[in-house]
Amino acid sequence: MSTIIDGKETSAQIRKEYAEEVKELAKKGIVPGLAVIIVGNDPASAVYVRNKGKACQEIGIHSEIIEMPEDTPEQKLIEEIQKLNERKDIDGILVQLPLPKHINPSAVVDSISPQKDVDAFSEVNVGKIMLGRQSFVPCTPAGIMELLKRYNIDITGKNCVVVGRSDIVGKPMAMLLMQQDGTVTVCHSKTQNLSEYTKRADILVVAIKKPRYVKANMVKEGAVVIDVGINRFENGKLTGDVDFDEVSKVASYITPVPGGVGPMTITMLLKNTITAARQNRENN
Ligand code: NDP
Repeated sequence: MSTIIDGKETSAQIRKEYAEEVKELAKKGIVPGLAVIIVGNDPASAVYVRNKGKACQEIGIHSEIIEMPEDTPEQKLIEEIQKLNERKDIDGILVQLPLPKHINPSAVVDSISPQKDVDAFSEVNVGKIMLGRQSFVPCTPAGIMELLKRYNIDITGKNCVVVGRSDIVGKPMAMLLMQQDGTVTVCHSKTQNLSEYTKRADILVVAIKKPRYVKANMVKEGAVVIDVGINRFENGKLTGDVDFDEVSKVASYITPVPGGVGPMTITMLLKNTITAARQNRENN
């Protein structure tokens, strides 16, 4: 049986540490500030945005939610971001994705000042990750790295296989594992004989949006399995991309869904906002 990597508990612990850090900053007159922009009425996005605001509030970070209508022109959204770029009390700016179809997400994300781009999706911050000079790391891969660290899972020299190559999860994940001296393979929907790769993994990260796709016969005995997937069944129940019941019998460590990677994502947003506040204000 594997050890379950408890993202909820780890996340709660880390948030306590960050609350202390925010208190220390307050003594210097610095209250980190996060602005979250949401365009349109997507119910799932509304829940994510609310949770982000709540998490900020709980540890003393100032947060603002800016709601814009579905038909907001791209230029108007960029102007809103530019105003936030200028504000001294806002350290982090995040635009909740997905955006309505008429808006180009790259143009919007790239208009966020790189010093305030706490999601780290802009081309400047993506480039920095490639070069290993990042100030911010995208929150989901950052959360996974933090879980590996806190469970003392060594990455050096390990065969790391990342399944999924999205800009927000798979690609930055691969870069971070490589920075920590893992030997990294990235697989995707065109990969042939996927299980030949997954079976070689000491550390397997799965982010493909396919419920319970990874079965026990695709995983090496003793592997560390990180399940990023969030799939919602009609009855509202959540499941990951890994068949937890089967794979937990062969893995040495495994993240559950829910309660694994998910809770760490918002926690890393708090971390990036605190980092931004330090960088933007501590020596100014
Ligand atoms: P995307 O849809 O952007 O990317 C999915 C990736 O999986 C693509 O690279 C795709 O390949 C690959 N893929 C799809 N099917 C297969 C397959 N059968 N075999 C191998 N690779 C495949 O998804 P995201 O990266 O945004 O998200 C992935 C999952 O993680 C989702 O379930 C999402 O909900 C979840 N998620 C969870 C977060 C959290 O906080 N826990 C945060 C972000 C995402 P190709 O490039 O060839 O199309």
